[in-house]
Amino acid sequence: MTDFKRDGSHLAYCPPVEKWDDWVELDPEAWPRRVEKHYQLVPTVCFNCESACGLLAYVDKETGEVAKFEGNPMHPASRGRLCAKGPATINQIHDPDRVLYPMKRVGARGDGKWARTSWDEVLETFATRIRKAIQEGRGEEVMYHVGRPGHDFIMERTLQAWGIDGHNSHTNVCSSSARLGYLLWHYADRPSPDHANSRFILLLSAHLESGHYFNPHAQRIIDGKMAGAKLAVMDPRLSNTASMADYWMPTYPGTEAAVLLAMAKVILDENRFDADFMRKWTNWEELEVDGFKAQGQSFETAIQALRKHYARFTPQFAEKESGVKAETIVRIAREIAAAGTRFASHLWRGSASGNLGGWQPARALMLLHVLTGSVGTEGGHNPNAWNKFVPKPFKVPPPQKRWNELLYPPEWPLCTHEMSFLLPHFLKEGRGKIETYFTRVVNPVWTYPDGFSWIEMLRDEEKIGLHAALTPTWSETAWFADYVLPMGFSSERHDLMSQESYAGKWIGFRQPVNRVLRERSGEKFEYTYQANPGEVWEEDEFWINLSWAIDPDGSMGIRQYFESPNQPGKKLTVDEYYGWIFDHSVPGLPDAAKKEGLTPLQYMRKYGAYEVTRDVYKQNEKALSSEELADSQTESNGVIKKNGKPVGVKIGDAAVVGYNTPSRKLELFSKTMADWKWPEFALPEYYRSHIHRGARAASIGEATEEFDPNYAPAVEWPEHARGNVYTLLPIFRLPNLIHTRSGNAKYLYEISHKNPLWINPVDARTLNVRTGDLMKVHTEIGYFVLHAWVTEGLTPGVVACSHHLGRWRVNKDEQVERMSSAWVDLTEVGKGQWKMRQLESVSPYQSPDPETKRVWWSDAGVHQDITFPVHPDPVSGMHCWHQMVRVQKADADDRYGDIFVDTNRSFEVYQRWKALTRPAPGPGGLRRPLWIPRVVRPEESAFYMK
Ligand code: SF4
Repeated sequence: MTDFKRDGSHLAYCPPVEKWDDWVELDPEAWPRRVEKHYQLVPTVCFNCESACGLLAYVDKETGEVAKFEGNPMHPASRGRLCAKGPATINQIHDPDRVLYPMKRVGARGDGKWARTSWDEVLETFATRIRKAIQEGRGEEVMYHVGRPGHDFIMERTLQAWGIDGHNSHTNVCSSSARLGYLLWHYADRPSPDHANSRFILLLSAHLESGHYFNPHAQRIIDGKMAGAKLAVMDPRLSNTASMADYWMPTYPGTEAAVLLAMAKVILDENRFDADFMRKWTNWEELEVDGFKAQGQSFETAIQALRKHYARFTPQFAEKESGVKAETIVRIAREIAAAGTRFASHLWRGSASGNLGGWQPARALMLLHVLTGSVGTEGGHNPNAWNKFVPKPFKVPPPQKRWNELLYPPEWPLCTHEMSFLLPHFLKEGRGKIETYFTRVVNPVWTYPDGFSWIEMLRDEEKIGLHAALTPTWSETAWFADYVLPMGFSSERHDLMSQESYAGKWIGFRQPVNRVLRERSGEKFEYTYQANPGEVWEEDEFWINLSWAIDPDGSMGIRQYFESPNQPGKKLTVDEYYGWIFDHSVPGLPDAAKKEGLTPLQYMRKYGAYEVTRDVYKQNEKALSSEELADSQTESNGVIKKNGKPVGVKIGDAAVVGYNTPSRKLELFSKTMADWKWPEFALPEYYRSHIHRGARAASIGEATEEFDPNYAPAVEWPEHARGNVYTLLPIFRLPNLIHTRSGNAKYLYEISHKNPLWINPVDARTLNVRTGDLMKVHTEIGYFVLHAWVTEGLTPGVVACSHHLGRWRVNKDEQVERMSSAWVDLTEVGKGQWKMRQLESVSPYQSPDPETKRVWWSDAGVHQDITFPVHPDPVSGMHCWHQMVRVQKADADDRYGDIFVDTNRSFEVYQRWKALTRPAPGPGGLRRPLWIPRVVRPEESAFYMK
């Protein structure tokens, strides 16, 4: 097993730190001559997915240019390794088509005419509008909408300093369902599996190629496998991960919870569960199920009630639902039980984000952990909060007093994050307007479902007053902005990163490489954009300066949060901001720095990362201190409360911190679900997804008992839709692509640039289709046309098309990503009826980068997401990505890449899904339960509906 060592000696092939100031390599371009190249190596953090791996920028000492990026061996999570996307940062920073200067629209919105402007003009324009909105009590008309997170700390600070409830995010098209499943158990909304030390790993994801916390997790899964762990993968698609597994379970999509509950039943029935753990650490005493109340009864009777409740989940039932053989289910259940406390798993997107009720697989998966006692153990599952380090900055603004219903509407009181993908429909319904809108590294026109509704919203100046797209690259959304503001890639800005990569805690420091190097040689910069390419600014400085511009004399109470902690009244610098955090909020860092004669900031600039702690297990058993116990009361159920809030729990005689739930235990029975109008889901359950075979049968008028319109909306096909009905899997990623940001990453696009329709040979025979044939795929609101790829790599009855491809542009040559997008004709042929046809695809072109003349591929893929209606899960609020589609061979007048969408139908589908919700208020007039997390949390009074 490879273990991280602070001196980097575990990876001898990486340059040792003492040589980072003058690292010598032979110039490959000079071969066969042996010409030495001298580099200075500067650490930073990758921005190309959420994993936040450590990068080393190799700066050519002769030219001062970054020549390449490799892994930082001093980074505890990535340990010197990267996936293909990390080194491709070099393509992003040298992209000849990237946005380098602030640009302002000069024609009508969406016309694509831009002129360069200055940062001063940008600050003045936005500050004036935002100041007015805040002063007039219209703060909620200012919205910040983030895609790829990062710089969260300063953003939360900014919005709360402004006193507004204006944070929007992409999370509800990403991971909300999995989050809800996890948080109902233990408040923490993500898993942190200890793969490296486990004996059995179950993945409902494609971790070895692309999954959440991809590279840091993938290398630890391999560590675990090399130490003897077995790997099982549940995925309808034969992913590269599934191909490396001991067991592949190609479930019919949406049936995963049935398989997991069948495994739970085997473990319960065969008495293979960890009774001691369950008795101590679940809230079994609150169990109310099928007329049984555990209160006052024994643990054994509660287990009997559970057995009875889950009796219908026989392996045979699960086989019928999922297609996975009953004997495989039984065998894996027994292996999981045998692994006991060393059972690790992961679920993030996949079944969770594809399906109606996608939060149930996460709940059912956690049930397996609870049954095996593998929560908080070596080789088991940790709540993410135990393994993610969140430092506290200085002088934190108070929470805002208001609640923005455009972000958290009453219909979805249990949504984990903002209902961002419904924004166009909310505005269409007249729920509000947006006066000033910042989109930050987010491209909803392209990455969200129903992109034409986004275009309609963005071009409407009544709905969106002023729109700035903060982005490093041109995007489909930026086309409809008023300002396009260039932001930096990994090596062009500051940020703090920490993720739950393993059973430890670390913090990474993203930094602007050019500025850091030039300051090392004595140059001074007021702002990072002065050292970056063009005028690419970093967000920290942008928000600090915008806040000063809104409140120049401090009279609004905003400026105080952006003043120097050392010199009150002076503008905060990034050195002061991060320096303060490293000095005061990272345990152990000041001492580690002192040993090397460095300040904590200098230490982080030198190494780029710091491991705060490791081997973090059983945090729930931490004893409450006497201070924490002072003035507390212990209730009859053992919950210890202080000032009316649970702070711990009695386990036997010990007063311990427990989990952050109302019972302070793992919530086997969710009183929250019962209280918030979903009593039938108080326990982990399985219910049929919107793409279940029953829903498919119902959609074409076949009689079925497997479709319940109270839980899944009926599908209404448009008149033009023809062909057999299939389930489309649209969300698997190709491991080398990065949403919009891989646009002109030439190394990545050279590897993959097309997204054909995967079809199983059984279905291909039915459809009389061969690889390469042109297919028309109908959704409920339109269609798209693409090529077929016949493959045995997915289960019959299902078709698939990869995410991340199908970029397009409306301008032929200017402000575009020419390596990755097709030039299209975009026409609204009738009200809400949109057609797109590719006019020209990718071809070689002239640019400052000579390699653009050598682009050999001629396909940019097909944009499927824009043809999907919104599918908000009635409980979690997650967009349920899987689609029921009709598939036919293309008609004679169809062309590759053709798209049609009717946004009138989009709105109707939205309303059908909304009708399934059970809106707030909940108990006590609450908008949402007080105990569950909320991003940029307002003060408690805002949680009550007036
Ligand atoms: S997994 Fe790849 S893309 Fe993600 S942070 Fe690591 S190197 Fe970057």
